[in-house]
Amino acid sequence: MAQQDDVFKKIVSHAKEYGFVFQSSEIYDGLSAVYDYGQNGVELKNNIKRYWWEAMTLLHENIVGIDSAIFMHPTIWKASGHVDAFNDPLIDNRDSKKRYRADVLIEEQLAKYDDKIAKEVAKARKRFGESFDEAMFLQTNGRVAEIAAKRDALHERFAAAMNDNNLDELRQIILDEEIVCPISGTRNWTEVRQFNLMFKTEMGSTADGAMTVYLRPETAQGIFVNYLNVQKTGRMRLPFGIAQIGKAFRNEIVARQFIFRMREFEQMEMQFFVQPGREMEYFAYWKDQRLRWHKALGLGDEKYRYHDHDKLAHYANAATDIEFQMPFGFKEVEGIHSRTNFDLSQHEKFSGKKIQYFDPERNESYTPYVIETSIGVDRMFLSVLCSSYEEQKLEGGDTRVVLHLPEALAPVKCAVMPLVKKDGLPEKAREIVNDLKFDFATHYDEKDSIGKRYRRQDAIGTPFCITVDHQTLEDGTVTLRERDSMQQTRVAIADLHRLIHDRVSLNSLLRKLA
Ligand code: ATP
Repeated sequence: MAQQDDVFKKIVSHAKEYGFVFQSSEIYDGLSAVYDYGQNGVELKNNIKRYWWEAMTLLHENIVGIDSAIFMHPTIWKASGHVDAFNDPLIDNRDSKKRYRADVLIEEQLAKYDDKIAKEVAKARKRFGESFDEAMFLQTNGRVAEIAAKRDALHERFAAAMNDNNLDELRQIILDEEIVCPISGTRNWTEVRQFNLMFKTEMGSTADGAMTVYLRPETAQGIFVNYLNVQKTGRMRLPFGIAQIGKAFRNEIVARQFIFRMREFEQMEMQFFVQPGREMEYFAYWKDQRLRWHKALGLGDEKYRYHDHDKLAHYANAATDIEFQMPFGFKEVEGIHSRTNFDLSQHEKFSGKKIQYFDPERNESYTPYVIETSIGVDRMFLSVLCSSYEEQKLEGGDTRVVLHLPEALAPVKCAVMPLVKKDGLPEKAREIVNDLKFDFATHYDEKDSIGKRYRRQDAIGTPFCITVDHQTLEDGTVTLRERDSMQQTRVAIADLHRLIHDRVSLNSLLRKLA
């Protein structure tokens, strides 16, 4: 674990050093859990958003996009339940004065039991070698059974407490499990309290009675309140979806792990409206579709898992998370929720407007049901960054830091470099840049030795380096160096466009999904 912490620290500093992510307001000592994206970060982030947007809107003829405002009528948040129920249970340690989410402390305790079981398995595997049967071991080993029983009992108690919103019971679990504050090491805990995560501000001048408005904590409500607009103006027939990418804001109690949990972040959400009674079919469909979208990036199929929810939100009748293996464990990057007709019905009730769909096949009007897919851009960014980072040992004792980014997401697709800064090589290199730049993010670099220039591109994940040398002037060929294999091949300038396009275009990714 310590080693993983180390790797994570290196990734965070790499992200800063190479212009991916900066702490917000850094020259004023920063603002907690708020980050800025730098020159390379913004490109990677935009590419992730494009991949999502195009997978939704180009590959599904029944999905359209919108871009709704961050400010919305405050009654929307009353109707959605956020004013009353968008809370996290918080607990303070009296000695360290540190604040924690009670549910997260208990989840971490559950993960400790899982770790213990994993350690027993690893030990046994070492002992038994080839003949080791993991399934049999898990069933029959006494020590494992004991840990698993404790884990299951805790899990059951925790799920019940969360479902009943029983704050006293959450505290009692923390005491019974002897969970200590990682800072003070003590069990001197306060009561558990609910804390609303929405940011408030005021609209209009206070003199004429300003209205309290919220910074949206999710983009989904902007879709629900535009459901009728889009359905009518787009003449949409069920089932159909509305997709949106935009900022969301949550006053998170504990903001940790870099851009994993931020107070200002970005979401990519899609609400898929279906006939009542067909929601489970589409829930299964979107679960599968979304995992395929992730896996197509090639970060490693084993890094993903589903996590079905024990505690369903008040509006949901099924929910699952897609978790990704971050350096700090498997964590949620995306949620897929079957939200019933809760949101549309609530808006109908609170606005007094009829929000229904007339179904020509069934010859009746009803409130559609909704399947939601909701993914955080920043968490997606973090998963891509973490799984791409490698400190590679090279032959001859050299090392390089390389980002094996999925090629279609890389901020820069190719870098063109004259071998030396004379003899007409820079001019030739510029010519190539001027041709490629219309289709690919292309860098020109002539500073330092060629080796250093390659390393700089490796560190930001550029898939291709093109080197112009004296032979180029004679026969119109260049060397094309690949980031991952570092292999160099001699190719004609005329072939560059095709060779690069085949590998770096979003097209190639999208085709895997079709
Ligand atoms: P968590 O349990 O981690 O707080 P959540 O279940 O509240 O997340 P949702 O409300 O389902 O999250 O939001 C959908 C997605 O938005 C999440 O899967 C995540 O990728 C992203 N997200 C939510 N909160 C944050 C945050 N504070 N910072 C960055 N991304 C976030």
